[in-house]
Amino acid sequence: MLSYRHAFHAGNFADVLKHSVLTLVLDYMTRKEKGFHYIDSHSGAGMYQLADEYSQKTGEYKAGIAKLVNELDIPEALQPYIDLINELNPDSGSNELTLYPGSPAVAKRYMRRQDSTHLFELHPTDIEHLNEFCYRWKKAFVKQSDGYQGVLGLLPPPSRRGVVLIDPPYELKEDYHKAVNTIIKAYSKFATGTYILWYPVVKRDLVEAMKSAFTNKNANNNVKNLLQVEFCLSADTNEYGMTGTGLFIVNPPWQLAQQMAEVLPYLRDKLGNNESSFTVAQLIAE
Ligand code: SAM
Repeated sequence: MLSYRHAFHAGNFADVLKHSVLTLVLDYMTRKEKGFHYIDSHSGAGMYQLADEYSQKTGEYKAGIAKLVNELDIPEALQPYIDLINELNPDSGSNELTLYPGSPAVAKRYMRRQDSTHLFELHPTDIEHLNEFCYRWKKAFVKQSDGYQGVLGLLPPPSRRGVVLIDPPYELKEDYHKAVNTIIKAYSKFATGTYILWYPVVKRDLVEAMKSAFTNKNANNNVKNLLQVEFCLSADTNEYGMTGTGLFIVNPPWQLAQQMAEVLPYLRDKLGNNESSFTVAQLIAE
């Protein structure tokens, strides 16, 4: 039985990176009238109460979103994400934050009548929360089943437009290669989709192995147009714990690299310290 609960981590620096990129990608997708699929392989609970025992126990959001929400010099590309947090917390100027959106709630902000949302989650408690969160959300389809299989079963979407978020807990080491392999397989079915894969920097060689799996070309791997963005709070170490976080993005919106080159130095200055660093790298050309 898996024990990971995202409620401990909601709103931390890794969520700030992941969800700010997700807002930019979804915002870009909605500039065209034609509908699209949003597929979230590992959805979590949907929405998080920051006053609950989980968030309060770790206090991770206090070193993440809480440090940004009242800043007056937010870069333009981070603003849609900050606006979403403020919409959910109308008193955030004077009070503590109370709600933090998980990836399904970020998606809900953008999805239109012509779009459809497909959410996978395995944990028995989080699936209940997710079902509650999606109650009355037409065109949101929630399944308590394996998200890796779920993604592959939905591609290509009928509209031939889609965004896939793969955000595993990495409780099992196999998640590192399973996540990349799922994108490689998904790409062979639907090469024009946008794929976002979140990863933690816990051991650098695990991230390097993911990178090699994407960039080492073979008959089954034809992935092109791969961007990597990464934000590390501190230098790599062999000690236990997450020192940084990153995303691999296949077929990003064309301005995303530039937008992240604007957002990441800001995150480093506001959330980091003198050991912090960031990367924006086009790993495979278009
Ligand atoms: N995407 C969420 C967000 O951004 O708000 C956070 C997801 S959390 C990092 C990972 C979730 O994946 C956990 O809730 C866990 O229960 C779920 N999970 C683990 N293995 C899974 C699998 N094979 N298929 C679907 N969900 C899974």
